[in-house]
Amino acid sequence: MEFWNPNIERLPEEELKQLQERKLRRLVENAFEYSSFYKERFGSAGISPHDIRSLEDLQKLPFTYKTDLRDTYPTGMFSVPQSQIVRFHVSSGTTGVPTVVGYTVNDIDVWSTCLARSLTACRLGRGDVVQVAYGYGLFTGGLGLHYGVEKIGATVLPIGAGSTSRQVSLMKDLGTTAMACTPSYLLHIGEVAESMKVDIASQTKLRVGILGAEPWSLESRKRIEQNLGIRAYDIYGTSEMSGPLFTECSAQNGIHAWADHFLLEIIDDHGRPVKQGKKGELVVTTLSKEALPLIRYRMGDITSLVWEECECGRTHPKIMRVQGRVDDMIVIRGINVFPSQIESVLMQIPEVGDHFQIVVDRVGPLDVMTVKVEVTESALSDRIGALMQLEERIAKQLREVLMVNAKVELVERGTLPRSSGKSQKVIDLREV
Ligand SMILES: [Zn+2]
Repeated sequence: MEFWNPNIERLPEEELKQLQERKLRRLVENAFEYSSFYKERFGSAGISPHDIRSLEDLQKLPFTYKTDLRDTYPTGMFSVPQSQIVRFHVSSGTTGVPTVVGYTVNDIDVWSTCLARSLTACRLGRGDVVQVAYGYGLFTGGLGLHYGVEKIGATVLPIGAGSTSRQVSLMKDLGTTAMACTPSYLLHIGEVAESMKVDIASQTKLRVGILGAEPWSLESRKRIEQNLGIRAYDIYGTSEMSGPLFTECSAQNGIHAWADHFLLEIIDDHGRPVKQGKKGELVVTTLSKEALPLIRYRMGDITSLVWEECECGRTHPKIMRVQGRVDDMIVIRGINVFPSQIESVLMQIPEVGDHFQIVVDRVGPLDVMTVKVEVTESALSDRIGALMQLEERIAKQLREVLMVNAKVELVERGTLPRSSGKSQKVIDLREV
């Protein structure tokens, strides 16, 4: 099946915008009526529901931040009584106070419907076996995907994160056709399969990867697709929005964001909207969520937005590849560096393995960045002189892209830590 719901997925942009406008007006009216948080926030900004008539009026509304969710912990931003909540998810949050997301029956349905459309866009459907290796439980990845897979009538294998050799044997035995996990974990599964003498490309039915929850580069995608013989699709979504929601389509050029349920903006450093296609921070307004509606929520992800009809026939806007998060950015001697830029350089060098780690430290007054890079076995067996040349070559290529010096340290394959979830690519010793 090519579309889950062709009527809505191919709705002309103009009609989608009219629908968004209607839903935005209702959202703001409801926020005044049912959300003490938004009533107060809008009230102190001098805004009444009548001020929001068109999509352009969105600019008048103040932003919502992650700190708002923390400040109102646990459920101060909810718009429905607890009796209507059918599920909680909680994100641990590295900074201490967790954020709690609640769902009504309808919220779960909208979430699964979004995923049903997305998974169908990745050419999955009845007959497919989807191995969900995202974490289950309070994290939204596992259960979110799980409901989406069931909705399209495919078979879900709810294995969760970890037990990597079991991932490989069940993938083989149960005929898994799609893996849903982080890209770095799929690379690790590939390594473990190799050590078990299982060639994923020829000995399993795996043909699709639904990969996300961490930024990854196009070069990583190329590697994953070539090594495992699959099509790897990017997935986007955060717990505040519900969880994983949107994926790429067969065009693999941008992530379709379902505009009937979510209203997206890209803003610059000053909070002003940028031109279509220009990079900035993603801001999301939920148009259908009941339990925890969010209005102009600052996602912290750096990306761009393109709204034009896609070659797949879908008319909804596309989030282009996420470059990184505002909070992932490392500042080295005043220069902004994203781990995804480093990944992009490394993955183009054939001698470089699949894993790397960035260590930032301060020596005297100076920031020093060391990039630890695993090399392939064949590169390691080379002469020591060749390895030194490789180190220099990587350092030179990094300098050209990052405009800052990085020390490169080559290490043996298997030296750096592996993770079954988000991999920790940056160790910043300056904070300690
Ligand atoms: Zn498309």
